[in-house]
Amino acid sequence: MIPPAREWSWQGPIVDHHIHLDKSGQGIEAAKAFKASGGTSMLLVHKPDFSSLPVDGEGYRAAYSSTLEMADYVRKKVDIDVGVILGPHPVAWDHQVDEMGIQAASEIHLEAVSIALEHVNERDAVGLGEVGRPHYAVSEERWRYANDLLLDVLKMAKEDDSAVQLHVEENAEETCRSIDEIRSKSGLDRKKTVRHYAPANLSDAFRSKLPCTVSVGRGSIAQIIDSWNEGAAYWGMETDYLDDPRRPGAVLGPRTVPRRTKEFCDEWIRLGKKEQILDELLHRVNRDWIESIYGWSPD
Ligand SMILES: [Zn+2]
Repeated sequence: MIPPAREWSWQGPIVDHHIHLDKSGQGIEAAKAFKASGGTSMLLVHKPDFSSLPVDGEGYRAAYSSTLEMADYVRKKVDIDVGVILGPHPVAWDHQVDEMGIQAASEIHLEAVSIALEHVNERDAVGLGEVGRPHYAVSEERWRYANDLLLDVLKMAKEDDSAVQLHVEENAEETCRSIDEIRSKSGLDRKKTVRHYAPANLSDAFRSKLPCTVSVGRGSIAQIIDSWNEGAAYWGMETDYLDDPRRPGAVLGPRTVPRRTKEFCDEWIRLGKKEQILDELLHRVNRDWIESIYGWSPD
């Protein structure tokens, strides 16, 4: 008797590398949906409240606490592992420049970075983010300030040996080239400089060898498989789920990473590629690389 063809499936961890949860949105219900679809761990990124941005250190401490509380709540109620990423959003800085001027906005921004790094040092957060620069066009002067500020932020991360998740514009390979240049000036290890919301292009030339968390929208899997080569730098899958009650499901829904992981496996097997390489790759994406970037081991 010929045994039925065995379908290969991934039994290891499945991590969303960049997700937000909001207590006024779906909150832990979204985390439950993630787990029910096969997700095992998440990197929960601080979500700024643009309607009331903190204006001092105390305000930032309170805002970060609510993200840390959400993480605890998810660990207890949903029983999945959560690594927290804390930091002031670059768009928050841009808004605050309009309100309070460049100097005051930059001061509060750097104070917020230093409070986030305290949490990283205490290990109740695993990295700094999302920090970066506005993803839309701003005046030349403001762009220059944004880049100077980013250099200062990365220097601070370097000082504390913290990993960073970067929110940046999308301008093909020029974006990563320019980020890597700032990174290099700051002295921060390339391995710790993660570009978030990255397009599904893993070629070294496109991303200047920076670690990337790819936004795994429709069609991304074929592009990932196509552009990945075995020696390539670190990458992971993310949704950037916003948990915004006014825009449910934006950017991608909480079930997306587990679903795309399955799609990834099916597509890999369909192409006749080796199961062993797939197994090793998924171990790296969902465990080894996370450990080596953030010093955090997801369950
Ligand atoms: Zn985000």
